[in-house]
Order: sequence, then structure tokens, then C-alpha cells
Amino acid sequence: MTTFATAPRPIRRILVANRGEIACRIMRTCRRLGVSNVAVYSDADANALHVRQADAALRIGPPAVGASYLNVAAMIGAARESGADAVHPGYGFLSENAAFARACEEAGLVFIGPSADVIAAMGSKIEAKKLADAAGVPTVAGYLGADQTVERLANEAKRIGFPLLIKASAGGGGRGMRRVDCMEQFAEALQSARAEARSAFGDDKVLLEKLVPHPRHIEVQLIGDGKGTLLHLFERDCSIQRKNQKVFEESPAPHLSDVARTKLYDRAIRLGRAIGYTSAGTVEFVMEAGSDEPLFLEMNTRLQVEHPVTEEVTGIDLIEWQIRVAAGLALPASQADIRARGHAIEARIATERPDRAFQPATGRIVGLKTPRGARFDTGVDEGSEISLHYDSMVAKLIVHGEDRATAVANLGKALAETAVLGVATNIGMLRDVVARPAFVRGGMTTDFLEAEFPGGWSPGATSLRELRGLAAIHWARCNVGGDASPWLRRSGFRVTGERRSAQAELLVRDDGSETAVVIGVDARGYRAMFADGNDVVWHERAASSVQEDRIVVALNGLTLDAHVGFATDEAGSSAVEAASDNILIAPLPGIIAALLADAGASVAKGDSLAQIEAMKLVHTLKASIDGRIGRIHVAVGDTVSAGAALIEIVPLEQE
Ligand code: ADP
Ligand code: ADP
Ligand code: MG
Repeated sequence: MTTFATAPRPIRRILVANRGEIACRIMRTCRRLGVSNVAVYSDADANALHVRQADAALRIGPPAVGASYLNVAAMIGAARESGADAVHPGYGFLSENAAFARACEEAGLVFIGPSADVIAAMGSKIEAKKLADAAGVPTVAGYLGADQTVERLANEAKRIGFPLLIKASAGGGGRGMRRVDCMEQFAEALQSARAEARSAFGDDKVLLEKLVPHPRHIEVQLIGDGKGTLLHLFERDCSIQRKNQKVFEESPAPHLSDVARTKLYDRAIRLGRAIGYTSAGTVEFVMEAGSDEPLFLEMNTRLQVEHPVTEEVTGIDLIEWQIRVAAGLALPASQADIRARGHAIEARIATERPDRAFQPATGRIVGLKTPRGARFDTGVDEGSEISLHYDSMVAKLIVHGEDRATAVANLGKALAETAVLGVATNIGMLRDVVARPAFVRGGMTTDFLEAEFPGGWSPGATSLRELRGLAAIHWARCNVGGDASPWLRRSGFRVTGERRSAQAELLVRDDGSETAVVIGVDARGYRAMFADGNDVVWHERAASSVQEDRIVVALNGLTLDAHVGFATDEAGSSAVEAASDNILIAPLPGIIAALLADAGASVAKGDSLAQIEAMKLVHTLKASIDGRIGRIHVAVGDTVSAGAALIEIVPLEQE
């Protein structure tokens, strides 16, 4: 184990100036190295995983990022208060903020990253491309001028030709970028790109760039120690994107010629040397499919989200190397020592609805099932609250294999095993992507997702039916109990001669659709039967959870969040009628919505006696015999559990 306490710039305690999975990831390396770590948190994160995993934690402000994770003064204050001697910014937030790097220096803190000047130069896409040009690194043709008038930009657009991209010079994360296909669209696209850039980055300077028609996004990981060693750690292919944001990343890039690969490394190193790069950084390129010419896009002067794929193929802990370099130590290897082994792929797990135009999903995670034999970098666990304040990326799944085919197979398996219950995620979509022949072939271009899912993604009908069946089974197991349960005799379930099983009709409601499912139980267990003749039985790999009036089930990467209850139609009512007892029983947990008969009143079999509301459905409970109302055990508004006795009916013959 390396000790950084005696290094030229001693590092004993690191303030982790970030949240979520990357904060947890940084702390993991700190623990391994025996460096103490301090977390920071906003009020929304007081109970977050990164806070619980830290050696110590300090509050930095309210939930809004401007007041907390982007608040330079609060962050520096926390670092000072904690006694940290270094700050790791992670990615996003303040990681590429030159003023923050400078503020750290001024406060006597080691900033774990490159110099503030390099961050500032590369933080402007315009400056970065000029530096690349000067270093002899080919870039995408375009306009980088200081003249930002609409007239000049329009003229330059005409010169470059369409289609082209308008890009915010300060941009990142795919924001402040607009595709323009003809002159008519230009003025409006420019205006909206500028507006987005102004609000997101406080800077509306733009550059124009020719659109590369079928691009692959390939980037090179660099790390330098400022003592003469600058290494590349091979490439990552990040071509599978949505809205210019990466979804899958892998290393090495498949189907890449040796010529292109050599150019990638040479060009990345050439730029890195030209700017005297230290710490970890990524040089991004686009490459037209089939060409051997990587064209420089931008440089990210920080650790990248997708750094784990490089770690998996090289066996290097990039955060350890960042700390080492920041402490003033030399890198422990030369280029010839760096070897890549096998193939690694990462998939980004986000809380969103891929079946609903990728709307963000929020709520509380009530269950988390992580895959075996795969790396799962996450910032959440069971009980975590997903709010709208922060990024929707909550975890990354990283697999390794001796070759790409093995890695793809491992990824499919790992995604199928992963389940996040309580908040919707994109895992089901990721799983479908991995199964596509084009993904298996490899070498995709950035239009891959649109081409594969032209009308958007939605879960397959068979998978949905299976999940609905599982939800019904889980509900029945929770609400009905074993074969001996009085439930089977008294309420929903009736024994049928033919199949010798007790059956009841349930209604599964999810996302505005209702599915009738007949649930049966016999010695082999529960079986969900659908109108189309298909049966579903419990699956040992399924994960499930009950949340108040919801059932959440997951299988093969897909989740379903449903309300389940006895059907209220004729079939459902007859199920209740089948209760042979003279006590009206609540067939499910719920709230008494109405009592329809007074004590002493005479009732006939089939009369409605009460209404119970649950799972957003109103169930009408009917008399199963002729008689007179005896004791009423509940009042309107009462919450009752399943099986509770509600109303007694005195049979006619007993009067
Ligand atoms: P780029 O897209 O610029 O190439 P990355 O792929 O490394 O860079 O993604 C960086 C993005 O990650 C940020 O722009 C931001 O949207 C997102 N992000 C920032 N901080 C966090 C965080 N703590 N957890 C999850 N995502 C984050
Ligand atoms: P950001 O800072 O948001 O990451 P980038 O310049 O890295 O911005 O571009 C993000 C993504 O947009 C790239 O990965 C690529 O898919 C696409 N892109 C960027 N520039 C071009 C271009 N000139 N032609 C085609 N696609 C591009
Ligand atoms: Mg980028």
C-alpha cells in the first residue's frame, strides 16, 4: 500500500466534493489506501449512501445544486472545517470549474485534477479546438470565431454547409447543442442553443461544426504525472448515446483498424503533451463509420463516468493514480507496462421511463437486487430517495470478459439479474439493447438507439404478461396465505371441482391498463391464468416487494409497479358471494368507503352491504345469504386489513 502522508504534497484526508455513485467510488479507493475521507451533503442527501459510507460528513447547503454541490465557498469551507488536505471533485458539478481548482490552491488544498489553467483552456470547446489545431491534431471543420453576431454565424454556416451542429463552447453533457439541417432552421436553433447555454453554463458563446453523418464516439484515457510521464490507457467506444449522452461504453473499441487505433493514441498524447496535461483526462474523438480518421471533439479534464471500463481492462485504479499524481509522486508505470486484457462494457442505469419518452422517475427505492459476478458502482441502496434535484444516473453496471462476446453475454445476464424496485429505471431497455444483433456485432454509430427503436422503446407483451402474472401471484401470497387460510374458504377463493384448485379473479392495474387474471392455488403453488390461455407461475429469479397498496415485481431487468385486487365485475362479486359464512369479510386491505345497510335491516342475498376502497378501486361487498343485519364492526373511514370481519348477518332460519 502506498502512503501519501509522506509524499511531496502530503494527502491524509480527502474531501469528496460530489455525491452519488462517484462519491462512493472515490471513498472506496480512499479506504483501500488508508486515506481518510469526508463527504459533503445537501439537505436532500442527509441520509444518502455516500454520507453513510464516509468517515465523516458535512452539510453544505439546501438541495438546489447552486446552493450546495456547485457552491464553491461552501465546499472550500467544508474542506477547511474537516481538516482535509485534498479535494476530489469527481465528475460533473465543480470538476471542470477552473475557479474552484484555483480556490482550492489558494486555500492550501491539493486539487485532485489538472491545473486550473488547463481546466480553463479545455473548458472552452473553442479554445480546445484551437489548441488541438496548433498541436497538429485534426478537428471537425467548423467556425471558432470571436465574432458571435447572428449575421456572421449565418454566413459561416453557409460556408460550412448543412447539416451542421451549433455547440455551446462551454457545453457539456450534450446540452447547448443543436443540429441544423438547412438555413431556414438556423436562426431559431441558434437562439435556443444560446438560451440553453446561458442558463446551464452562464456563457452563450457558440461554435459551429460540420455534422459527421454516421459517427462513432471514441475517446482515449490519458494520465500524466507532470514529471515527464504521460500515458494513454487505450480507448473507449461510447457510441451508444441518447441525445448526445452516453448510455453504453466499452473498451477496446470493436472493429477498429490498427491504423485508426494508432492515430487515436498518437493524437491524444500529442494534445496532452502540448498542454502539459497532468492527472486523468479524456480526449474525445468522432470518427465517421468506415473511416480511419479520428477527429478531435473536446477534452474532459476530469475522471469520466465511464472510467471503470478502462479500469477493468487495465487493472489500474484510476482514482489511486489521480491521488498519487496529485500528491506529487511519479506514475508507477511506463507506457510499455500498460496492458489491456479482455473486454469491458458499462451500462448506465438511470431512474427514468424509457417507455414514456424517458421522463425522469422519482420516489423511494424499496428494493435493490445487484448482479453477481459483475461490478455495480452505485450511489443508492434500499431506502434511498430519488429526488428531482440531481442526475438520474444512479448506478453503473460494468462487466468484463476474455473477449467481447463473453462480455456481452455477461452483461445480458447481469442486467437480467439487476432489479431496482420502487422507482422506474431503464434496465429493461438496456437489456433489450444488449440482445440486439447489431449490439452483438459491435461497432455501432451514434444513431444506433434511434435506428433500433424507431418508435421508442416499450416492454414486450410477453414480458409484461409475465410480470402481471407475478404481481397477481405475489398479491395473492401476501393477502391470502397458505392453502389452509380461511381466505380460501371464506372470501375470494372457491374450490373448483375440475382442476381441484381454489381460484379467484384478480385485476392487475398498471399504467392505466387493467388486466384480468385468474389466480389459482393448488398443491404446486400459485398459478396466474390469462384470458389468452397462457399461465404464469412464480419464477425463482423474480424480485418483489409490497409497498402500501402497490405490488412491485421485477424479472429479467423489467419491473412492474401495479395495484392488484379482486375483480369488481360479476366474476369478482361472485367470488365474494361464495363466502359461505354469515360474516361479511374484507377481501383486501382498504378503507371503508360506505356502509349500505343499517343494523336490524333485512337483506337478501346479493344486496350490496358495504364498499371498500383500496388500490384506487372501489369494491362492493354483497350479502351472501338472506337475513338481517346484526353487528356492524366498522365505521365509514376505518382502515381494515384483509380478512377483517365487517358485518354480521343473522340468517333467516335463526330468527
Ligand atoms: P461527457 O458526457 O461530458 O462526455 P461524462 O459521460 O463523463 O461526460 O458525464 C458527465 C455527466 O454526468 C455530467 O455532465 C452530469 O450530467 C452527470 N453527473 C454529474 N455529476 C453526477 C453525479 N454525481 N452522479 C451522476 N451523474 C452525474
Ligand atoms: P459534450 O460536451 O456535451 O459531451 P461533445 O462535443 O463531446 O459535447 O459531443 C457530444 C456528442 O455529440 C458526441 O459524443 C457525438 O455523439 C455528438 N457530436 C458532437 N459533435 C459532433 C459532430 N461534429 N458530428 C456528429 N456528432 C457529433
Ligand atoms: Mg463530450
